[in-house]
Amino acid sequence: MSRSRKEFPKAVKVATFKRCGGPDNPRCEECGQPLRPGRFQFDHIKADGFGGEPVSENCKVLCSGSRASCHSVKTEEEDKPRMRKADAQRDAHLGTTRKKAKIPQPPKAPKPPGKAPLPPRQLYEAAR
Ligand SMILES: [Zn+2]
Repeated sequence: MSRSRKEFPKAVKVATFKRCGGPDNPRCEECGQPLRPGRFQFDHIKADGFGGEPVSENCKVLCSGSRASCHSVKTEEEDKPRMRKADAQRDAHLGTTRKKAKIPQPPKAPKPPGKAPLPPRQLYEAAR
């Protein structure tokens, strides 16, 4: 069920990079922070997995490289949960959801001898 991921072609990356300020003053298109070499990502606005095309209109240059960066936040808080939900819905629809394996439990130890269990309520009422 997997297809190859559609990465942005180089021409799209070049055009998008120019849009975000070019090599002289590149800035994150989300927060506006200056971008450092190797610390940015070309992000699909509409995720590839949802049919987002690899075109410049669907591409955003985001800062990356830390957990608080725009790319990490978008990926972890938006894209991944959305993809997990879609995967679960698809699996449920197709009936391919795997049942959770039952973990074998050790046999229960017999109850320690103690008080005898109370007789059922009817016996109390009959004894009145
Ligand atoms: Zn940013």
